[in-house]
Order: sequence, then C-alpha cells, then structure tokens
Amino acid sequence: MMPVEPLTTAEIVPSIDVLSLPRPRLIAWFAELGQPKFRAEQLFRWLHSRLERDYAAMSDLPAALRQHLQNVAPLASLDIETARQSAIDGSTKLVLTTRHGAPIETVIMPMDAADGTPGSVTQCLSSQVGCKMGCDFCATARLPVRANLSAGEIVEQVAIACRRGYAEGRGRGGVAGGQDGPLSARPHNLVFMGMGEPLDNFAALLDALDILMDPKCYDFSPRRITVSTSGLAKFVPKLVAAQPDVHLAWSLTATTDAVRDRLMPVNKGVPIDTMVQVLRALPPRPHRKITFEYALLRDVNDSLGDARRLGQMAQLVGAHINAIPFNAWPGASYTRPVRLVIERFVDEVRSTGASISLRESKGQDIGAACGQLAGEKTLG
Ligand code: SAH
Ligand code: SF4
Repeated sequence: MMPVEPLTTAEIVPSIDVLSLPRPRLIAWFAELGQPKFRAEQLFRWLHSRLERDYAAMSDLPAALRQHLQNVAPLASLDIETARQSAIDGSTKLVLTTRHGAPIETVIMPMDAADGTPGSVTQCLSSQVGCKMGCDFCATARLPVRANLSAGEIVEQVAIACRRGYAEGRGRGGVAGGQDGPLSARPHNLVFMGMGEPLDNFAALLDALDILMDPKCYDFSPRRITVSTSGLAKFVPKLVAAQPDVHLAWSLTATTDAVRDRLMPVNKGVPIDTMVQVLRALPPRPHRKITFEYALLRDVNDSLGDARRLGQMAQLVGAHINAIPFNAWPGASYTRPVRLVIERFVDEVRSTGASISLRESKGQDIGAACGQLAGEKTLG
C-alpha cells in the first residue's frame, strides 16, 4: 500500500465543499493532496452511500487524513427545521435550513398504486432558495431571499429522505447495488419541481445529477429523474448533452404569448414557439419523456381554445400534459377553475389526440403542493 504522508497544517487550502464533488472531481482533488484514488473512493462511499457526516466515524481513513479533511473541508449538512405529514395523502414536507440560514423545502410523496396499495415514493427537490423567475402564480417567486443551492445541498435532500425512510423501516433490498444501509430506503423517483429554477443553477444541477446517478452510491436511473424548467431554452440542449435520458418537464401554463408574458416573465425572452422548436430539435431518445406542466387558472388559461392549442402543441413535441389545478397560497390573485370546467378542458385536450393527466397536487393541507413552497414564515 502506498504510504500516506501525514498532512501538515502548512498545506491547508481554503475550505472546500466536498459534498458537492462528483466522484471524478473528488479523486482529482485527492490527487492534489497526494492521496491515492482508493482513498477518494472510500470517502465518497462514506459521504454518499453510508451518508456519514462525521469524519471521526470514517474508521478506514487514516487519522491524519481525517483531521486534515476536518480542517479544510468541514461537512455542512442541512438542518431539519420542521417535518409535517399530510393527513390526506401521507406526503411529508421537510423544511430544511441551508448553510446560509435560509429555508428550503423538499416533499416526500408516497404514490399509491392504482389498486390502493402503497406504491413508489417520489421526492420533489428544491434547486434554489426562492426563485428569481418571477412567475405571478407561484408562491416561491415571492420569497425575498434568493440563493443557489450547492450540488451537495441538492443531494443532501435525498440523503435526508433516505435516512428518514430507513429509520422508519422502509429499506428495501436489491437496490443501489444491493446496499443495505440508508440508501436502501431511497425514493423511487426524483422530480426537480420544488423551490427554484434548476436550469438557473445549472452547474450545481449537473454535479448533483452526477452524484445521484453514480453507480457507486445512489445509482438513480435517469428514467427516474425529471428536471422541470419554466423555459430557460439555452440550457435545455446542454442538459440533454450531459444527461440524454433524464426526463424533461416544461411549465408551459399558457398557450399564447400574450397570456404567458403576463404569467411568466421568462416568456418575454423565450416565447412559446422558441421553446417548442428547441424541444423538437433535441436528439431523440427512446426513453426520455417530455411533459408539459399546466397549472389551471380560472378564466386565465382554461378556455376550450387553450385546450385545443395545448393539445396541438403537445403533439408537435411528443409531450404528455400534466394539468394541475391551481393551488392557493396566501395573497394569490388566482383561483382554480370549477370541476366542470376542468373536466371539459381535459376532454377537449384529449379530443386533439394528446395525452393528458389531471394531477391533484400532494400535500395541499401542509403547504407542500406545487407552487405553495414558500416557507410559512414569509407568506403564512
Ligand atoms: N421552476 C421550475 C421548477 C419548479 S416546478 C418550473 O417552474 O418548472 C413547480 C411547478 O409548479 C411548475 O410547473 C409550476 O408551473 C407549478 N406551479 C407553480 N405555482 C403553482 C400553483 N400555485 N398551483 C399549481 N401549480 C403551480
Ligand atoms: Fe420559479 Fe418555477 Fe415558481 Fe416560476 S413556477 S417562479 S420558475 S419555481
């Protein structure tokens, strides 16, 4: 075995965010420290497979290395501020505090199988504190504090879900390379539909995806991950180049530029047709799905004309449509259409030949539904 020189304080480099490093970059950093690759692999396993956050517990790393890491790369974790479970659908909203002291939210949603038995678990991840995209119908846009999450903070939301699931006895065998630790309780699906615009935090998103899809730890299949965007078109081909099989969702929400300009300021830079062309031009992949998210707003985007345009657009792109009746939040100036209007809308979309599902958001009673993620202190 290669001798490992004790590291002296003279070598201390500025603090490094080790939890944000995908495995190849951790290996490269260790090489700079004069540490062999297998040591980096060991640390990566502690961090992202065993989910250990205390260097002192990493018993197969030499004491001098552990001390050095503690000095140059202290491990910051997300603190759980509150955990609330929905009495209606069993979803759990966790409010987490980042290293900046800002709150973010993640929602863990059990998705019942059609026969009513417990099915898979989907976790909704935040990518930013707040969101600067300014969509008029979205509570997250009203948060005064805005910051990018690090890749480590994005991944840490999943680590927290794993630890909770494992502690609650929801570990399963035969996943993530047969791991029997906390990763055996990992959620089945991840959706980047929490706070923030993931493509506005692009580098951290890519690093987080690398870690989450690494076969040596979480080992998520890209088919189990959906990245949702309001329409930052220039990043879409870049995302697809880096991760060709990850599913894409586009929050369309209006079928004319006049209405969408009002609802979603991003539309002024990237009008509907531009994004449609970008999506159509993506190199096809057999398993990648594209979804249009469509928050239904009463008397704003719920006409039969909207339904027809939506259906036609979805077919141009080969997208499935998820319609979500608007979730109210304090101070919102929108409401959801009445049931009959929603049903007619869905029928009209179907009559164009497009496929649409009507989704009731999970966690409405705990402020965890789509567009309600804003932290109660601010809007409650
Ligand atoms: N910023 C990204 C990812 C967040 S996803 C994006 O916008 O795609 C949040 C989803 O919830 C988006 O599809 C958004 O349109 C939808 N949404 C926001 N506010 C909502 C509300 N009050 N009711 C229902 N859906 C809402
Ligand atoms: Fe941001 Fe998405 Fe909310 Fe728009 S809908 S403000 S992009 S989180």
